[in-house]
Amino acid sequence: MPVYDYRCENCGCFEKMQKITEDALSECPSCGGKVQRLISKNVAIVFKGSGFYATDNQQQLKNKARAVNKERQKDNEALLDGDVKSFVKQSDSSDKKIAEA
Ligand SMILES: [Zn+2]
Repeated sequence: MPVYDYRCENCGCFEKMQKITEDALSECPSCGGKVQRLISKNVAIVFKGSGFYATDNQQQLKNKARAVNKERQKDNEALLDGDVKSFVKQSDSSDKKIAEA
C-alpha cells in the first residue's frame, strides 16, 4: 500500500497509508484543517506483472518489452499529471493490452 504525503494548513506535512483507489483526505485527522495531497514518490514505483512467459523467444520478448514500455509510458504520463485515478484507469487498460499482446 502506498504512503501518501499530505500537507495540513495548520499542522504541516504528515504521511498516511492508503489504498491507491482510496479517495484523498480533504480534512486533517488531527485538527480538521484543510489538507492537500502531495504526489508521493512511492506511487511511481508500482510494479505490475511483466506479461512475459518462459516459452517466448528472444524476438517476441523484445517486441513485448517495447509494447510494455510504450503502455507504461502512458501510465507515467497520467501519473505525472498528478491524477491518481487516471493513472489507475490507464494502468488497468495497459494490463489488458499487454495481456492480449
Ligand atoms: Zn492539521
